Amino acid sequence: MVLRTVEEMTPNLTGEERRGPLTRLRLPLGLRDAVIDAMARSLPNEGCGLLAGSIGADGVVEATWWFPGENVDASPTRFTMDGAQVVAAFRQMRESGLELAAIVHSHPSSPPRPSLTDIRESHYPDALALIVSFETGLAEMRVWRWLTEGGAERYRECPIDLIGDV
Ligand SMILES: [Zn+2]
Repeated sequence: MVLRTVEEMTPNLTGEERRGPLTRLRLPLGLRDAVIDAMARSLPNEGCGLLAGSIGADGVVEATWWFPGENVDASPTRFTMDGAQVVAAFRQMRESGLELAAIVHSHPSSPPRPSLTDIRESHYPDALALIVSFETGLAEMRVWRWLTEGGAERYRECPIDLIGDV
């Protein structure tokens, strides 16, 4: 799974021990369009990719870079980002001083909420989960953060601030 690879690549991250909870995503319109375009091109299968950027002390995640990914599962219900692409993305992030901001994937025919498969296999507390749904035919994007408080692991939705490109 992509997330196992991510954990191997970032053994120094400790999530909520390192900072407070992630609170919201600031996403430039150009990146929003690039993400939706890539997810649309992956149909009828799930698409995937990584957003990188910076994370403030207030938990605000600022996305500034998009790494499109290949879903090697080629499945409409699950995704695994190509391992070499994950490695290359993390190398680029390290060299550019960027952090992993959000793990992106799509749901071709289900709502933009984490699926049972996502909850079982794809939770990753150090980054947001951005899901693009095509259930209605129109792209709908929602963002989630993983909660581990109280032992009841679940996702909570995070607001998205769409910002103009500068
Ligand atoms: Zn999913």
